Amino acid sequence: MLEGIKNEFPVLNQIVNDEPLVYLDNAATTQKPLSVLSAIKDYYENDNANVHRGVHTLAERATEKYEAAREKVRAFINAKSTKEVLFTRGTTTSINWVAQFAGQILKADDEIVISIMEHHSNIVPWQEVAKKTGAILKFVYLKEGELDMEDLRQKVTAQTKFVSIAHVSNVLGTINPIEEISKIAHEQGAYLVVDGAQSTPHMAIDLQKMDVDFFAFSGHKMMGPTGIGVLYGKEELLNQFEPIEFGGEMIDFVYESHSTWTELPWKFEAGTPNIAGAIALGAAIDYIQELGIDQIHQHEDELIDYVMPKLQNIEGLTIYGPKDNKKRSGVIAFNIEGLHPHDVATALDMEGVAVRAGHHCAQPLLNYLDTPATARASFYIYNTKADCDKLVEALQKTKEFFK
Ligand code: PLP
Repeated sequence: MLEGIKNEFPVLNQIVNDEPLVYLDNAATTQKPLSVLSAIKDYYENDNANVHRGVHTLAERATEKYEAAREKVRAFINAKSTKEVLFTRGTTTSINWVAQFAGQILKADDEIVISIMEHHSNIVPWQEVAKKTGAILKFVYLKEGELDMEDLRQKVTAQTKFVSIAHVSNVLGTINPIEEISKIAHEQGAYLVVDGAQSTPHMAIDLQKMDVDFFAFSGHKMMGPTGIGVLYGKEELLNQFEPIEFGGEMIDFVYESHSTWTELPWKFEAGTPNIAGAIALGAAIDYIQELGIDQIHQHEDELIDYVMPKLQNIEGLTIYGPKDNKKRSGVIAFNIEGLHPHDVATALDMEGVAVRAGHHCAQPLLNYLDTPATARASFYIYNTKADCDKLVEALQKTKEFFK
C-alpha cells in the first residue's frame, strides 16, 4: 500500500555522492510530502494574516485554519477538548513548559522520576527545576534494553510528584508500556508526563486510554515543518498552572497594575504563533490519516523484521535495544567493532545512505551502555526493503574498506 510513496517526497528524489539517496535519519527529522509543502505555500499565498485579532476576511480565514489544525491534533491524539492542545515550538519547549509548571508546585525533597533512556530534552529541564526547588531527580534503569519495571515500581513512591518518560526511545527504539506506568504513577498521586516525540509519528496515540497528564511531540518528526509542536495537558491541570510566557494573545484584560488571563488553550500561547507551521502540521496529520497510522506502524514493523536478521548477520555488529522486535519501533542503534560510528556514518554517506552517528542527545544513556557513540538507522513510511538492502550492502562495503 505504501509502494510508490517516495514520489510524493521531492527531497528523496536526488543523487548524493553519485548514489540515489536512502534517507534513514527519520528519528532526527522526517521529510515532507507535497501536501505539507503546498499547505505552507498556500497559506502564505492566499491567507496570510495574524490570528484571533482581525475581523477582516484574511484574519478570519487564518484563524479558522489555525484552529482547525488544533482540532486535527485533538482528534489525532484523542484529547477530550481542543482546550488541552497547546501549540509550542516542539517537544523541547513542551517539556520545558511542564517542568516550569512543576516548578510552581514542587517543594524541597519532592521527587521527580525519569528514566536513563531519556533524550536530553526530558532530562535537563528536570535537573533545572530540581535545582531551583530542592526536589530530587531519580533515574529508572534498564533490563535488556527495556525499562526495568521493578526499578520503576520501587522508585515511584508517595514522595514522587512527577514521572516523565519517553513513549519510545530515540536510541534504543524501545516502546515503553505507558498504560502500566500511568497506573503506577497515579497510584502514588504523581503526574505522568510522556515524551511522545518518537511515538506520535509512528503509532496510534490515544491519550484518554493511556491516561497521561501531559504529552509532548514535534511536528517535524511526523512530516510537518520544524518550529511547531504540541503540549497536551489535561484541562483541569492546565487550569491550575500559571502561564510561562506573557504578552499579547494570552490576556483577558490588562490594567496598569496587573493583568488577567484569557481561557485555555490561548492562555499559554503568548505572541503571534507559528500559524503556517500549525496549518502544515494539520496537513501532515491529514496525510498520516489517509495512509492510516496502523498501516504506517505495520510497514515499519515489516521493515524491522526484514532488516534485523541481515544486520545481525554482519560480523562484529552490535545492536542496542530490546531483543524482541515487537517491543521496538523503527529505530536501530548499532556499532561495528573497531570502527568509530562517525566513520561508519561518513562511509555510508559515500554510498548515499544517510544515518546518524553520535550520542543522539542521550549522553546518560550512552554512558550507561558504556559507549561514547553509536550509529543509528531510523525508518519511516517512505523507506522500502530495497533501502534496507542498500544499508546492509553499504555496511558490508564499509567493513571491507576499513579492513
Ligand atoms: N525527545 C525525543 C525522544 C526525541 O527523539 C527528540 C528529538 O530528537 C526530542 C525529545 C526533542 O525534539 P525537538 O528537538 O523537536 O524539540
